[in-house]
Amino acid sequence: MQQKTIARRGLMLVLSSPSGAGKTTISRRLLETDDNLVMSVSVTTRPPRPGEQNGIDYGFIDKLEFNLMINKGELLEHAKVFDHYYGTPAGPVLDHLDAGRDVLFDIDWQGTQQLAQTARDDLVSVFILPPSTAELERRLKRRAQDSDEVVARRMSKAADEISHWAEYDYIVLNSDIEECLENVYAILRAERLRRQRQTGLLDFVKALREGQ
Ligand code: 5GP
Repeated sequence: MQQKTIARRGLMLVLSSPSGAGKTTISRRLLETDDNLVMSVSVTTRPPRPGEQNGIDYGFIDKLEFNLMINKGELLEHAKVFDHYYGTPAGPVLDHLDAGRDVLFDIDWQGTQQLAQTARDDLVSVFILPPSTAELERRLKRRAQDSDEVVARRMSKAADEISHWAEYDYIVLNSDIEECLENVYAILRAERLRRQRQTGLLDFVKALREGQ
């Protein structure tokens, strides 16, 4: 029998958390296992860290280019995080959504608030909480990509980021990575089935009623 699928619009899956809560690992695992999920590559004025690649981890641009993108309306959202500017280029995201692909975002609470205002129907926001402050600090230090000073600043920012938990649709605790992933998958699976996203339903049900 021919496999029937119902056309649908893609969704925006936003994962936010204080740095060190495991968001990067979760994003990587989701992208590895789900063919219909693509990552939104942000632009930033922050310099690349060792190993980071332009166009893959971020588009690394200067402040002038960043402002130009804002002025031309090319960013879906943008924010200053720590000392640098970050933003989401609109074009690729909108193309993916129209094609029925889901887009994963690693953005902060400021960006999520902006998407909630401009794209509420497409947005599914998930906040990932670390199991404890001590564990968060341990994970940040183990990563060791940043200087002690940056780690200390990120720790103090973590409390600030966590204070925005109530603005998110879902809250997932990451004490066990596998369990956390399973919960994010459950959210993704259910949200994909939302009636308003299944744009092909009218035609599908019409055909059903006509006995096809
Ligand atoms: P990092 O510099 O460690 O890669 O990212 C720092 C913070 O910026 C993270 O919390 C990340 O979620 C956030 N971020 C990355 N890209 C964007 C973006 O395009 N928009 C917003 N609002 N935040 C972003």
